Formats: sequence, structure tokens, C-alpha cells
Amino acid sequence: MVSLADLRVGLGLDRHRLAKGLPLVLAGVTIDSSERGPEAHSDGDVLVHALIDALLGACGLGDIGEHFPPSDVQWANASGEALLKGTLQLVREAYPAFQVINVDATIHLEAPKLKPYKFPVRETLAKWLDLPISCVSVKAKTGEKLPPVGTLEAIDAQVAVLLTLNASC
Ligand code: MG
Repeated sequence: MVSLADLRVGLGLDRHRLAKGLPLVLAGVTIDSSERGPEAHSDGDVLVHALIDALLGACGLGDIGEHFPPSDVQWANASGEALLKGTLQLVREAYPAFQVINVDATIHLEAPKLKPYKFPVRETLAKWLDLPISCVSVKAKTGEKLPPVGTLEAIDAQVAVLLTLNASC
């Protein structure tokens, strides 16, 4: 039973500049057909970074830069999974009985087409969040050849999260 008073929605956005020859990883899944990847202090997992901001936003706990600052060497080359685990721990400390209800994500990338990767990305996110796969949506859009996504300069991600702060009531 979920109380309406405990429901929270969160929205996260992230963007990374793309460069040729770098790996592209989305929710831990390597997009092996991509010729470009993000320039980043961490692994540049734009989808997980947007998810983290959505989770933090839903709980009023700030943003990814406050908790995992790029200036902190502790987070150099940190994987999206490691940052997400740290975020879930932060949320759990504030709201021990919280539970994510569903996630809806959109990735904006001009190339390659993400269709073959969407299911593995959903599977991984569902596993990390302990959700049925039906509660995790991953959509992909191109940038219609318009900058910066459409000109292969950037990758964007948007994530909406619904959660309950108290799943036990
Ligand atoms: Mg980022």
C-alpha cells in the first residue's frame, strides 16, 4: 500500500560532450558500435547521471555535483554503477523505507541507433534498482541533425522517477 502523501517525482538531465575514439557506456552497457564517447571526469554514463539527479531531486537531496564533485579524486573514473550505489545509500540514509516505483528515461543521441541496446540497458537499470523490467522505460531519440546532439557533438539524457519515501506503510 502506497500513501499518496509519500509519493515523490524527480527529474534529472545530463549532457556530455562527445569525442571520437572514446567508449560510450549507458547504464553499464558498452555501446560498441559507437565511434564516439563522452568526455568526462567519471565514465560519463550520462543516463545514470540523469537518473541520480532524478533520485536526489525526488528526495530533496541536492544534485550529483554536490555529492560526487568532479574536483574530488575519489570519483575520478567512477562508474555509473558506483555513483548510483552511493546515491541509493544516501537516499536510504534519509528515507530507510523508500522504494522506486518506476523510471522513464530518454537518451538523445544522433548515432548509432540505440535500438539493439535498449533492452540490455533496461535490464541493467532494473537490476540495479531492484525493479521489474516493466517499471523501467528507456527511449531513444536523435537530434534531427541539429546541434549539439544532431551534429554528433553531445549526448543528452532525461530521466523521470516516481518513488515512495515510505514503502512500508
Ligand atoms: Mg554527467
